[in-house]
Formats: sequence, structure tokens, C-alpha cells
Amino acid sequence: MKCRLCGCEDNFDSLKVKELEMGFRDEFTYLFCKSCGTLQIKHIPENLSRYYSGGYYSFYSNKRNTLKTIARKLKDSYTLDQRFLNFLGNILCKISAFPNAQLLAINYVYDKLTLQSNILDVGCGNGALLSRLANIGFKSLEGVDPFLSQDKILKNGVRLYKKSILDHKREEFYDLIMFHHSFEHLTENPFDVLKKVYSLLKKDGFCIIRMPTTSSYAWEEYRESWVGLQAPRHIAIYSIRGFEILACKTNFEIEKFYFDSTHFSLVASEQYKKGIPLNHRNSFFVNPKKSIFSKEAIKDFKKKAIKLNNNNKGDMICMILRKKQ
Ligand SMILES: [Zn+2]
Repeated sequence: MKCRLCGCEDNFDSLKVKELEMGFRDEFTYLFCKSCGTLQIKHIPENLSRYYSGGYYSFYSNKRNTLKTIARKLKDSYTLDQRFLNFLGNILCKISAFPNAQLLAINYVYDKLTLQSNILDVGCGNGALLSRLANIGFKSLEGVDPFLSQDKILKNGVRLYKKSILDHKREEFYDLIMFHHSFEHLTENPFDVLKKVYSLLKKDGFCIIRMPTTSSYAWEEYRESWVGLQAPRHIAIYSIRGFEILACKTNFEIEKFYFDSTHFSLVASEQYKKGIPLNHRNSFFVNPKKSIFSKEAIKDFKKKAIKLNNNNKGDMICMILRKKQ
């Protein structure tokens, strides 16, 4: 078999990985290309939608009351643009546990955007992020996701389409196309996807891709128990070098990359190693009191995650791409 990314033949480590997010425990084979560091599922399951049904988090409804919506607007505006005289937003950001990683990524290109910018979210789920942007005041927001039940226009004007990005057409070009933990889910050829992104973007537009990476401590440490694998939903996970090949061959340059992992990866992978699914009653993320970890241990994982990000060994990476000029 050839690596879908670098084309190198039969140079793989093979590993068996169980579905442990929803707790099906079905087993899948993944291949790690020793040449480019890309991890890929050997066969894409035909019944993939089974693993996106029910409790899959991207499709939870996101109803909120008015006060929460206002608080979120203040906080999100501040995350995107600290120049605003938004004292309440500043305070809300300081007291919340984590800044929103999606908005922090958009913050890197915020200077180049206006509220009229055309923005596309690929793998948009229920449109939660686009709705946050609408709440801040952005006007032209669209999402595509093949796992949506149908096309939808939300009350805030956000348009969601049930389709693959490869089938998406638009007369006006986008200023920003984003993949927040959706790129690794794509069943389409990643070269075709980035070529499509290239054709949909303005000349000076940006593409943001946040995804897991094998250039990380967590992959090296946990291997088949690494939560970043999310078998079988993650089809391909790239190393930095592997992703550079992909970007270069599709005429993009990587303007910047940084790591935005949290303790989640470390805690969840430790749980997987012990056979505890993410949604299990003893999972820290379901019931912290019944967790196998003490409060102190969780604090240590939080510190470790920050340290790994700072040392470029975090397992979640954010790539900011622009067209080669
Ligand atoms: Zn390869």
C-alpha cells in the first residue's frame, strides 16, 4: 500500500485502535508512515455515519439564555480584539478556565478581516462557532458539513449546507476558510480539498487548520491509546513535515503554526490506556469526583500541557496558511 500523502510504499508501522470516545470499542487498523510521519486509517469504514450519530459533540444543540449570550458576546469580542475598550469582556476572559481556542486562532488573522468578510467553516457541525461570530457582528457566515441532517439557515443569518467542500460553489471569494478539528475527519483526498480551498479563497485570504498532529509527545507516549486518534473518525493525522508536503504541493505557504493542546489530551489518553472511554461514568470529563485522578494530578496535567505547547510538542496544532504569492 502507498502512503496517501507522500506516496512512499510499504513503509508503515501498523497499529490496532479501538473506538473509545462513544465507547463502541470497535477496532480499526491505522498505518503510520515512517517516511512522512502521517498516520492514516487503513480502510475507511463504509458505515462511518454510525460514529457521528447521537451524542457526537459537534451536533449537540447550543441553546443559551439572553444573559449568557450577552456575556459570551463581550468575552468573544475581547478574545478577538483586545483593543476594544471592553472591560467586562476582559474580566470575563480572565475568570474563564480556557480562552476559546477557535477564536484565538481567528485572532491571528483578525486584522485582515472586517465584519463584512466572507467566512466559511468546513465541518461546521451545528454552526456553533459561526453563531458566535454572528453574535459579535460578522455578517457573511457559511458552513459546510456532510453529516448535517439538511441545509439550514439559522435565525442569525448563518447558512449551513449539507455537503462536502468539494461540492461547494460560490461566486464571491472567501476571506477566511477554517477547519477546526475537521481536516483530520475528511474522507476526501486532502490534496483535492486544499486545491478547492485555494480556488475558493481571495488572493490574500487565509486558511486556518486546527488539528491533532503526530509531531507530539502525546502520540509518541500513548500510541494506540492517544485520544488524538479518535478511531475511526480521524482519517489522517499529519506530522508537521507531512503537512508541509501537503501545503507546498497545493501552493500554500504556512504563515505560522502554534500548539493549542490542553490537559484534555493527556487525561483522556491516560484514561484510554486504562480502557476508560470518554463518556464512561468514571471518566474525568463525565464525573470528576469519580475520576481515577486527584485534583493535584489534574493540575499537573494542565501544567504539562502548557509546557508541551511551549516546547512545540503539544498534540494539537494550528496552521495558518496563505496562498503562495
Ligand atoms: Zn508518507
